[in-house]
Amino acid sequence: MPDFSYARERMVEMQIARRGVRDAFVLDAMRRVPREAFVEPGFEEFAYEDSPLPIGEGQTISQPYVVAFMIEAAEVKPGERVLEVGAGSGYAAAVMSRIAGKVYAIERHEALAKAAQRRFEELGYDNIELRVGDGSRGWPEAAPFDAILVAAGAPGVPEALKERLAIGGRLVIPVGEEASQTLLRITRKGAASYEEESLAGVAFVPLIGEQGWVEDGRRSASNHLPGQSRGRTLPEMIAAAAEPLPAIDDPAFAEPFDRFANRRVVLLGEASHGTSEFYRARAAIARRLIERHGFTILAVEADWPDAAAIDRYVRHRPARKRAEPPFQRFPTWMWRNTDVAAFVDWLRARNENVPEPERRAGFYGLDIYNMSGSIAAVLDYLDKVDPEAARVARERYGCLTPWQREPSTYGRAVLTGGYRKCEQAVIEQCQELLRRRLEYAAQDGESFLDAAQNARLVASAERYYRIMYYGGPDSWNLRDTHMFETLEHLLEARGPGSKAIVWAHNSHIGDARYTDMGVMREELNIGQLCRERFGGEAALIGFGTHTGTVAAASDWDGDMEVKRVRPSRPDSYERLCHDTGVPSFLLDLNRDQALRRRLLEPRLERFIGVIYRPESELMSHYAEASLPQQFDAYVWFDATAAVTPLGPEHARPGAPETYPFGL
Ligand code: SAM
Repeated sequence: MPDFSYARERMVEMQIARRGVRDAFVLDAMRRVPREAFVEPGFEEFAYEDSPLPIGEGQTISQPYVVAFMIEAAEVKPGERVLEVGAGSGYAAAVMSRIAGKVYAIERHEALAKAAQRRFEELGYDNIELRVGDGSRGWPEAAPFDAILVAAGAPGVPEALKERLAIGGRLVIPVGEEASQTLLRITRKGAASYEEESLAGVAFVPLIGEQGWVEDGRRSASNHLPGQSRGRTLPEMIAAAAEPLPAIDDPAFAEPFDRFANRRVVLLGEASHGTSEFYRARAAIARRLIERHGFTILAVEADWPDAAAIDRYVRHRPARKRAEPPFQRFPTWMWRNTDVAAFVDWLRARNENVPEPERRAGFYGLDIYNMSGSIAAVLDYLDKVDPEAARVARERYGCLTPWQREPSTYGRAVLTGGYRKCEQAVIEQCQELLRRRLEYAAQDGESFLDAAQNARLVASAERYYRIMYYGGPDSWNLRDTHMFETLEHLLEARGPGSKAIVWAHNSHIGDARYTDMGVMREELNIGQLCRERFGGEAALIGFGTHTGTVAAASDWDGDMEVKRVRPSRPDSYERLCHDTGVPSFLLDLNRDQALRRRLLEPRLERFIGVIYRPESELMSHYAEASLPQQFDAYVWFDATAAVTPLGPEHARPGAPETYPFGL
């Protein structure tokens, strides 16, 4: 049999630890039990996939994360006596047997029980006692138990199982109709007192038996007290925790966001690159944070040299001569739209009334795609401050000249065509500029910051286009690391007390460790890096919508179209928000702990970028995430509309040629 130890280690790290399971006993036990021995012959290579698998008799071996989550929730400790109802393959019992003193396991299908028993024997796990039967009544002779895990969904909590708990014992059990089960933890506090908590939404096969369902899906007659409440549905819980938002242009819209005003960095996401509500809401929040709470940095998912043109305009600094008009490249509507233009006008007017330059808020770009714009900006700068250095820089950047128009061809040319690699030249150029920081910055600190950032960008972009050729997570990680470091440079440049707002897609600002990006693809992002660097001083705020229209292209470099956004899928977080019936709200994901726990279990979330392909929406735009871990808060607009791109009618006769959008 092949060696699965690497796959097992990876499963524990990526699927379990990263999703928040911390219990060292559980992680250690999951590392030790060979899951490949518990799947059907022929399925070994899938044993470490992030999903349940068939084990025969219409039953499944649970998803590894769910097994870990349940054992952690049951707080299984060394030496304890544990009961599992629904042993199935025997995997969960095996994992618990590596922690507990003794595990009792019941399985109603004889064939499954026999296979599980054989596995325990082969592996030498001799502290598990397994029997065939109906576990919904428990195992009275072996009671009391310190922990009971039920691996099948019951209509209600079986009284018989509660009674088999020791005082202080924990019962973890999925309860509810098949489509909407909730994982509950019942803790026995005294002879007749129990505490009940909701942990997460789950999907298990049914518990069939006296205190469960009958085979045809009806409740068994004796299974639980009539009228017993199964708790509120998830949309009901979200609706109760949601803070409804007024219209975006209402002055009170951004008030609830004051709770984030003392953070160092407030990251505002978007679920598409072409939705007006996301831009306008972020603008309203940014206005409030800038006006009332001293934020002076707005860093956006735009290219640095393009955003710099806007920054000069909004901070009343002279425009760069000979600079290209900003935002000429695909996707132009991302920054050339009426919502951004309105915000830029506001920021310029606001800064005009702020006499101290250090209190004026700037508009900065974090992204790396305009390499030729950055090269031009460095050369322009050096032409002014140090013509000899400009000559050397021209020579160095000359290496990239053939690729400036189509930088994506550079990587292939260097790696397969034997063309000269420009790495050394661009790094040297960046280092030299930074070495002369004191000398240059003494003349004009702002212009130096701009030039230094452009030189860093050229160095990052050169590497980006080379490693992009290989595919894999490295190019994404380089881009997001560059964006994060740019943010750090800005905070540093604006002084110790400075505070920043970030506007970028949810995929950049939601913590990647709790989405498929981190779990499946080893990708990181700005949100994750901000949490690692700033801890609780970073607020990660995601945005979402159910349906409406969006501005997007069908293919890269294609024309902008206004497309219909399909209603969100029934198995998505978006649908839970839609089902609240609240048209727009702020959901603080750290306030209601019971809700947070129920939302933890990963679900689908929709990601629309500059491209939207409704016809293959599930494949192209949905990924799994654990919303309350990905974000600190979530902003919801049930129905949304596409942004309006700036057309020729928006050109402003007589406006200075520096005006970013009048060109
Ligand atoms: N923990 C198992 C594993 O890791 O393989 C997963 C088991 S599967 C999700 C649930 C199991 O519960 C099925 O094998 C099913 O036959 C069993 N089951 C359902 N009702 C039961 C009952 N009343 N008593 C015992 N087992 C039951």
